[in-house]
Amino acid sequence: MSIKVDPNLMKDLKEFGLEDANKCMHCGNCTAVCPLSTADNTFPRKLIKYAQMGLKDKILESPEPWLCYYCGDCSDTCPRGAEPGETMMVMRRYLTSQYDWTGFAKKFYTSEMFEIISIAIVAILVGLAMIIFRHPFNMEHAYLNDVWPAPAMEIADMGMAAVLTFLLLSNTYRCFNYVMGDLKLKIPIGLYIKNAKELVIHFVTQKKFAECTDRMQWFVHLMIMTGYCTIFLLVAVFLAGGIHVIGLSLHDLQFQRNEIYPFFHPWRILGYYATFAIMYGTTYAIIGRLKKKKAPYKNSHSTDWGFLILLQLTTLTGILIHFTRLLDLPMPTYVLYIIHMMVAIPMLVLEVPFSKWAHLAFRPVVVFLMAVKKDYLEEQGQQK
Ligand code: SF4
Ligand code: SF4
Repeated sequence: MSIKVDPNLMKDLKEFGLEDANKCMHCGNCTAVCPLSTADNTFPRKLIKYAQMGLKDKILESPEPWLCYYCGDCSDTCPRGAEPGETMMVMRRYLTSQYDWTGFAKKFYTSEMFEIISIAIVAILVGLAMIIFRHPFNMEHAYLNDVWPAPAMEIADMGMAAVLTFLLLSNTYRCFNYVMGDLKLKIPIGLYIKNAKELVIHFVTQKKFAECTDRMQWFVHLMIMTGYCTIFLLVAVFLAGGIHVIGLSLHDLQFQRNEIYPFFHPWRILGYYATFAIMYGTTYAIIGRLKKKKAPYKNSHSTDWGFLILLQLTTLTGILIHFTRLLDLPMPTYVLYIIHMMVAIPMLVLEVPFSKWAHLAFRPVVVFLMAVKKDYLEEQGQQK
């Protein structure tokens, strides 16, 4: 089988933030020190070689960029300062744009101006929609449901969730196609089912990351991920009580409502956990990126900043709304709610399918597929 060489690959990768990969002299130190590199999936040196040789197809079918959690051990010990950890990060951005069939992710990752303008456009549209499609302000009490009725918000929310899910799933399917190649037609469905727990475990615990030397990085990542997923669940599923759970009425499950839940209500406790986890994780990451001491924080792409700023602003406005509601201040609550939505919606509709948040799906899926592939190859070996 002939191997296609893309002479522009390094140039293309530069658009996604690649800087120092040409310094690599292939000593192999990075692969030797990487705590996550295995005999089946060696990295990062192999991927640097692919990039230098223009082997675009090899990169497309490589699961390894998703098996790297960017602990930075390789970059810290590279004798040439070639930043192999950052190269793996660049590959993840590049692959996200290749999986995305709309072409939006590529523009988002390669043009800072496009990123800023698209966030601004979505924010303005959301702000206008919140101002135009509202009921009269209730100036006696800070009652959000009187101004933006929860059932209407739920319909808009579900529509958005459906579009996001479609985009993310279709891109994840393309990831699956690239990574599994011809094997996907040969592996019996039973092996996927048998390994399904891997998908859940790796999504929830990020436990591979915990194998890295700097466990603080894993902890911060886990805080941001669990905080974000908790709030996503509360908002996307329970905004207007979209799901029935035995023993609880629809009203009990409603996330956006006029009355404030008692302190020990599960929603309030989960909300406090998510707020603390996101604020802790994003503050740690922002300080790290400003200080530039740890390898994963030395090279910040505009999308890294965009993601952290949007997430922190969403959380901060959420905290302020909580206090204005507790103090029953109507107008500050309504204004803050509009601002909150103008930050939260761009983060969801742009970051989840096209940018930083997409790795939340790709990484555990690829870890799961590698477990399936390993089982299949072992079975094949036993049959010979
Ligand atoms: S990136 Fe650095 S450590 Fe890795 S092979 Fe190249 S020179 Fe060696
Ligand atoms: S950043 Fe960490 S996990 Fe990623 S390749 Fe380097 S050593 Fe391995």
